[in-house]
Amino acid sequence: MKISMQSGQLVVPDSVDIPFIEGDGTGPDIWSASRVVFDAAVKKAFGGRKKVNWVELLAGEKAVANGKELLPSETLEQIKSHFVAIKGPLTTPVGTGFRSINVTLRQELDLYACVRPVKWFKGVPAPVKSPQDVNIVIFRENTEDVYAGLEWQSGSEKAQKLVSFLNGELGCKLASDAAIGIKPMTKRNSQRLVRAALKYAVANKRRSVTLVHKGNIMKYTEGAFKDWGYSVATSEFGGEIVTESAVVASGASSAGKILINDRIADNMFQQMLLRPSEYDVIATPNLNGDYLSDAAAAQVGGLGIAPGGNINYETGFAVFEATHGSAPKYAGQDKVNPGSVILSGAMLFEYLGWSSVAKLIESAMEEAIVSKKVTYDFHRQIEGATLLKCSEFAGEIANNVEKS
Ligand code: NAD
Repeated sequence: MKISMQSGQLVVPDSVDIPFIEGDGTGPDIWSASRVVFDAAVKKAFGGRKKVNWVELLAGEKAVANGKELLPSETLEQIKSHFVAIKGPLTTPVGTGFRSINVTLRQELDLYACVRPVKWFKGVPAPVKSPQDVNIVIFRENTEDVYAGLEWQSGSEKAQKLVSFLNGELGCKLASDAAIGIKPMTKRNSQRLVRAALKYAVANKRRSVTLVHKGNIMKYTEGAFKDWGYSVATSEFGGEIVTESAVVASGASSAGKILINDRIADNMFQQMLLRPSEYDVIATPNLNGDYLSDAAAAQVGGLGIAPGGNINYETGFAVFEATHGSAPKYAGQDKVNPGSVILSGAMLFEYLGWSSVAKLIESAMEEAIVSKKVTYDFHRQIEGATLLKCSEFAGEIANNVEKS
């Protein structure tokens, strides 16, 4: 049965249909491995009382091989009618004029919050001394900023028109061959993203929400993001938050409240490395969030275990996916780490309110890594580790689930 929505809440039937997109490149290997873990965890958590019926949707190379478009409209319609989906990575075709299936999917479904939790799992080899200090959740704005796709090639007719308009009407001094990109950011979209981060922080009893921006340079876009963010925090969450400036200026107590502060993006990259334990939930525009989430994932051991969810909290639509791409050079080798999609599945179950499934998946994966039974990416960094294939690593996790 399909998920439905009543009074703004998702209603999840015990036998639930969940769509998946296998993905391109390494996607099929990763998906089939992940599914074994998901089914084992649902069975363990509910002993057969609840189950998932996986529904395949086509996108990317598999859709084209089946005579369809890269992102068929029925795939979008199916996601809407099921509310959620999980997907493997999709290759972005180069030079075809199609920007990115992933970006299109997020924009078509208006999945405005890209939520990326980043924390260290015991046993994962990491490049920093104290990876256990990282436990953050990044809320990245997903629909606008420089990802809106408004850019024009140097010397093109449209770029030249814009240059002459900007120079003639607005007093700019642009070179005639300038390439032009536009960075739209709106109050509505910035505020709904910050609101989602704040609601998450309240619901999950997190300590702080940090607005990460580059407002010192881009005052009317990134600077406005910060101002709009503070304004949502104070006007809608006044009783639950305290601003860092109030704590510093008037000694306001932050006890029992969520601390709201902001950091300039370049400083934030240093802070993540030098004082990660001071940060908790982060809300940030699209491009900052893209950079920051990859850097933070690397800090705790890399892309092989970096999950994500693209969510619209009002419509309920959500698509969960790995942070990494389709790594085509490893396609069909049953080699890469399925951990990112497995953890994205844990996020999906958490989103559906099946938290016990999510917890089982996370602890069974940690157990596999602690016992040093890992895929190639971790194997080469852990002394004395046993090298497992993608499917074997998933099998190990599923075994851990069953015996837990
Ligand atoms: P990529 O993430 O696919 O691969 C880069 C490198 O990361 C790989 O060579 C590998 O060393 C490592 N890596 C990736 N996945 C891994 C895994 N599961 N386990 C272990 N190591 C892993 O990045 P790319 O090569 O720049 O992109 C390939 C394609 O994927 C492009 O077409 C790109 O547009 C697309 N892409 C898709 C998504 C998505 O579906 N959301 C995200 C990023 C990139």
